[in-house]
Amino acid sequence: MKANVWHGKRDVRVEEVPDPVIQQPTDAVVRVTSTGLCGSDLHLYEVLAPFMTPGDVLGHEPMGIVEETGSAVTDLAPGDRVVVPFQIACGECFMCRRGLQTQCETTQVRQQGSGAALFGYTKLYGSVPGAQAEYLRVPQAQYGPVRVPHEGPDDRYLYLSDVLPTAWQAVEYAGIPPGGSVAVLGLGPVGEMACRVALHRGAGQVIGIDLVPERLERAAARGVQVLDLNQLDDVVGAVRDATAGRGPDSVIEAVGMEAHGGVVASLLQSMVGFLPGHLAERAAAKAGVDRLAALYPAIDMVRRGGTISLSGVYGGMADPMPMLKLFDRQIELRMGQANVRRWVPEILPLLGDDDPLGVDDFAAEHRPLSEAPDAYERFQRKETGKVVLLP
Ligand code: NAD
Ligand code: ZN
Ligand code: ZN
Repeated sequence: MKANVWHGKRDVRVEEVPDPVIQQPTDAVVRVTSTGLCGSDLHLYEVLAPFMTPGDVLGHEPMGIVEETGSAVTDLAPGDRVVVPFQIACGECFMCRRGLQTQCETTQVRQQGSGAALFGYTKLYGSVPGAQAEYLRVPQAQYGPVRVPHEGPDDRYLYLSDVLPTAWQAVEYAGIPPGGSVAVLGLGPVGEMACRVALHRGAGQVIGIDLVPERLERAAARGVQVLDLNQLDDVVGAVRDATAGRGPDSVIEAVGMEAHGGVVASLLQSMVGFLPGHLAERAAAKAGVDRLAALYPAIDMVRRGGTISLSGVYGGMADPMPMLKLFDRQIELRMGQANVRRWVPEILPLLGDDDPLGVDDFAAEHRPLSEAPDAYERFQRKETGKVVLLP
């Protein structure tokens, strides 16, 4: 089959790899019909390159048609249309029973101390081949895949694999009071969807912050009050001014390890993320890179007693953290990967013809899988939004 394979930093290629087969009774094989490209793939493309192995198949946002099931997979049958969550969880362990599927004790890679195994996330999360491919082996298929109706376009359901539960959890963790205010840093697919979910769930004021004009326009078109970082010297001051001087009740950070300071900065950034804290800071300062470009303003802009919800991924060290400021301002911090299956029952009813979250038109473009390398390049340069690859 054809798959999108990592070869080196900023070097992915679509090439022939072996077809997946059932290895465990709890496996299924899915023929992938649509598969997303995500900001998390960009970390592997660049910042996390030192952890990658040439030959890794990328991707973690698939849906498709069940081809084959193992003997222990009794709820799925060949021909079923399914969305596959990005994390692999058993549904039965201590963590899964508590809705913490990201911490699944059955699939976690204990030696590394990481959480549940993920598709397409190299040895960092279990070396499970990814979903930017024609076929996918799905471990723990007795629990993971979400069966969806055969009617409606793929795009209506696809984002259940990642973007929707990630945005949903971001809003949940943000604890926005009814009618309250939230600032969302980063208007990539995750941040934009978080804005939509926040509005849908009753936030009174949603402020979206980014530096890409097309992304700001898209958010503004759906009622988000946008702030363009290119036009601001003081983003914290601007957000305070927009919220009665106090700052918003909540801040959602949807940026993560972002490399947008040019090639030199991003190369240095890729190194500093994995050095001990003080060395990382020194190297970052020397390079003029603020690795925490969105985390520090989040801490500064949220109102006293407010909550910061991090969905952006931070690898390695992120210190110095201003502990006195966090303590004195009584700020709550919540974070982590989205526990996908936990939020599916709340999100699924919203995926119908009335489409309150606008998922049907959410993709910026659809491309054949063979064009993945070009899609990665353009998505990294923020020249496009959510890309859906069609194997
Ligand atoms: P993306 O790279 O397309 O979006 C990031 C956006 O942040 C871009 O639009 C960029 O212009 C903007 N940005 C950069 N620096 C900024 C700053 N200082 N202030 C405000 N905005 C800034 O990626 P995405 O697909 O939207 O993903 C965003 C983050 O969410 C990534 O870190 C990704 O790994 C993470 N993520 C987490 C989960 C989870 O389970 N928690 C799931 C999916 C993605
Ligand atoms: Zn993703
Ligand atoms: Zn489990």
